[in-house]
Amino acid sequence: MSGLADLHSHSTFSDGRLTPTQLIDLAHGNGVRVMALTDHDTVDGLPEALEAAGRYSDLTLIPGIEMSTDVPGNEVHILGHFIDRHDKAFLRRLEKFQESRRGRAQQMVEKLVQLGKPVTWERVQHFAGEGAVGRPHIALALVEAGHVASVNEAFHLYLSRTGPAYAERDRLNPDEVIELLRSVGGLATLAHPRELRAAGGLEDLLTGLKRAGLTGMEVYYQDYTPDEVEFFRRLAEKFDLLPLGGSDYHGLGNPQQREPGDIPLPMEPVERLVAIAREGGVLPRAQGPHAR
Ligand code: AMP
Ligand code: ZN
Ligand code: FE
Ligand code: FE
Repeated sequence: MSGLADLHSHSTFSDGRLTPTQLIDLAHGNGVRVMALTDHDTVDGLPEALEAAGRYSDLTLIPGIEMSTDVPGNEVHILGHFIDRHDKAFLRRLEKFQESRRGRAQQMVEKLVQLGKPVTWERVQHFAGEGAVGRPHIALALVEAGHVASVNEAFHLYLSRTGPAYAERDRLNPDEVIELLRSVGGLATLAHPRELRAAGGLEDLLTGLKRAGLTGMEVYYQDYTPDEVEFFRRLAEKFDLLPLGGSDYHGLGNPQQREPGDIPLPMEPVERLVAIAREGGVLPRAQGPHAR
């Protein structure tokens, strides 16, 4: 395989601003030849993405998903690649997560009203469209109402985990999510580990995740510096995880945002991921951080 790879992106089916077709056209135009659509808690954008990718004979589209999980004091996002998007039990679980996202977004709207920064549920739903509702949609409603100047400011002032309008939603723990992804043939990758490194305890977390069946860790991500990339590359090696990554493109215009393909992810670990998936899915359960 040649060209660029990008294993993390969002469309209008969650909180991205481009439809799967627009996203794939943009990525292909940028030189991306292996790409994954990883919308939050939904696989509903995958049929359109697969169809759009099918128009390019030199583009491989990996069906993916991003799931949010909780650990004490922090949230851990896990990407699943090569999931079976038809599995009935999996789809029922995802529908529950969508419901929980809706209930939680309504709670956050309520909190904003109490804070004197009202937005309406109708406008939040408008920005979410047919997709899984998320905090970026509330942020867009806050910008529209003139309460903040940007999506970033909305997170900074109100919507972050420690912000005054934040509300929790149902989440699984990371081990449960890895098990769920593996149950539908998915290969699990820890997303954007920088915040987790800053919070401390990343190595302990990785020990547990590896035991639960983690396959990769994002090493190449958005604005990670060469030093950070080197740090996470070594950590991935230590825990026998594939060093993967992606742009996490949403098209929301955040300053840290990169275009699809604009990350220095080498093709070699991506080829290994594809090979593992072809060999029949998930790796055998590891006995320790170094076991295969
Ligand atoms: P949710 O899925 O509703 O918990 O929202 C999480 C999403 O919000 C992430 O995937 C990002 O797209 C976005 N997000 C999280 N933190 C920030 C931030 N500080 N600035 C802008 N967007 C953010
Ligand atoms: Zn997002
Ligand atoms: Fe994420
Ligand atoms: Fe993401």
